[in-house]
Amino acid sequence: MVDIRCVGVIGAGQMGTGIAHVCALAGYQVRLNDLSRERIDGGLAAIEKNMARQVHRGLITDEAMQAALALIKPAETLGEIGQTDIAIEAATEDETTKKAIFKALEPHLSGHTLLASNTSSISITRLASNTDRPERFIGLHFMNPAPLMKLVEIIRGIATDVATYETAVNFAKSLGKTTANAEDFPAFIVNRVLVPMINEAIYTLYEGVGTVDAIDTALKLGANHPMGPLELGDFIGLDTVLSIMNVLYEGLADSKYRPCPLLTKYVEAGWLGRKTGRGFYDYRGEHPVPTR
Ligand code: NAD
Repeated sequence: MVDIRCVGVIGAGQMGTGIAHVCALAGYQVRLNDLSRERIDGGLAAIEKNMARQVHRGLITDEAMQAALALIKPAETLGEIGQTDIAIEAATEDETTKKAIFKALEPHLSGHTLLASNTSSISITRLASNTDRPERFIGLHFMNPAPLMKLVEIIRGIATDVATYETAVNFAKSLGKTTANAEDFPAFIVNRVLVPMINEAIYTLYEGVGTVDAIDTALKLGANHPMGPLELGDFIGLDTVLSIMNVLYEGLADSKYRPCPLLTKYVEAGWLGRKTGRGFYDYRGEHPVPTR
């Protein structure tokens, strides 16, 4: 098994920052990469803000926060990521992008470095087969927000070896997470169930069955969900929701997974949810306001 001390994170968006956050709080060195220094700095600022919130709520001490922040370093090049013990890719949910990242990383990789993807839906076997080490490649699917959510779904590709699997499970446990194994089929377990529900909620909106407010209230109070499905779609990011539906639709070749045209329209408009300030709700004011 690989002795993990230093973790590379590629993608400093909502998930990459969350993963860097939990790894640093657990005492790992972290190297955070994104397309530009600006984006990395944006990610570092988000981590600091999220940790400060945890301090404010009494969940962690100020000393723990300072120690964790000191462990996270920007990595402007993939060369710095290649020298880590495990490189976790948490970039945009797009297969071409992810494959290009792993190809670009390959020449910089230490012999022992494990590769992981935080993909929500894309085949681990396909991503792994595009690298020089499919046996040391695994799916580590953190949930959003990573610092709060207890689960990490673990997905083995067809070639993933036992040592990599065991290292990954121990690593997730060392972060205080519980693991669930999922086979490598489109969207694994959580998103195979969750994302078609969000898509169906968007169909109920599209067909006029309910308003944004009625649909979210109905599921919160009628099914005891902590967030309504449209609110949740905005939280995940509607581009990610659409990508996952497309992976399900194409990967399982079943029309029941067709993405709702209204979801496509929101994504085409750049209304991606919380991260862009507008989705099924408008977040730019003091309180979220439904956009239809
Ligand atoms: P995001 O849009 O917040 O962040 C993606 C980041 O990747 C951006 O900062 C972008 O600049 C960066 N990026 C894109 N191409 C890159 C490249 N070539 N090199 C380095 N960085 C690059 O998206 P997110 O919500 O953080 O999702 C990231 C991954 O995590 C996706 O695979 C997604 O499916 C998965 N995921 C998302 C959620 C969720 O709820 N949002 C939950 C679990 C897993």
